[in-house]
Amino acid sequence: MNNPLVLVVEDDAPVRNLMITTLKTHDYRYLTARNAAEALMMAASHNPDVIFLDLGLPDMDGIEVIRRIRGWSHVPILVISARSDDADKIEALDSGADDYLTKPFSVEELLARLRVTIRRLAQMNGEGGGDRSVYTNGKLRIDYSAGVAFLDGDELKLTSMEYKLLCLLARNTGKVLTHTYITQRIWGRSWDNDIASLRVFMATLRRKIEPGGDSPKYIQTHVGIGYRMLKVD
Ligand code: CA
Repeated sequence: MNNPLVLVVEDDAPVRNLMITTLKTHDYRYLTARNAAEALMMAASHNPDVIFLDLGLPDMDGIEVIRRIRGWSHVPILVISARSDDADKIEALDSGADDYLTKPFSVEELLARLRVTIRRLAQMNGEGGGDRSVYTNGKLRIDYSAGVAFLDGDELKLTSMEYKLLCLLARNTGKVLTHTYITQRIWGRSWDNDIASLRVFMATLRRKIEPGGDSPKYIQTHVGIGYRMLKVD
C-alpha cells in the first residue's frame, strides 16, 4: 500500500501535532479532526485507510464514534486514550476498534502500531495473500480446508478447542481480541468460568505453537484485556 491515509481524531492540540509530525516525517498522508462531528464527516467523505481515535472528545464519546463508523465501514480504528482503565479499552475493542494506545505513548510505539495495522489491512485486501484457504505466518501454517495446522512443516496435534482458538486468532492477525469476543465466538457466551477456561486452552495452545516458551512470538497477551496474533516475519 502506498502512502496510507490516516485520519487523526484528537481534540488536544499538542498530542494532535505530535501525531501529525510523526506521520509527516514517515511519509504517511493524514487528515485531522478535532471532534466527533468532524471525524464522522471526514471518515465518510475521505475514506481513510486507518483512523487514530481519541476516546475523550468534546462532543461525543469516542466509543459512540466507533459504533457509528462500524455501521458502514471496516476501516481499522486505533484508539488513543488517556484513560488507563482497562474497561474503556475493552469497550472500545468490543465496539469494533482494532487496537489501542494509552497516553502518554512514544512516537516509536505509535509507528509500530500503525505498521501492524497496515500489514493487517494489506492482508485483508489480499496483497501477497495468495491462497486464502491456507494461512501462513512465520513457521506457522494452517490449512483451513483440511482443518490442520503445522509448525515448521510438522503437523500440530491440537485439540478441536485449540484449533478453533488458533483459527480465530489467525483470521484476526494484528487485531487485539478481547476475552469476551473470543469466548462468545468459541462458546457462544462469556461467563467468568469461560474466561478462566480460555486461559487454560490458550496456555496449552501456546505450549504447542511456541516451543521456545520464554518469548511469545505468535500470541501476545494483553493482561486483563485479551490476546492478539502477531505477524511474524
Ligand atoms: Ca481528548
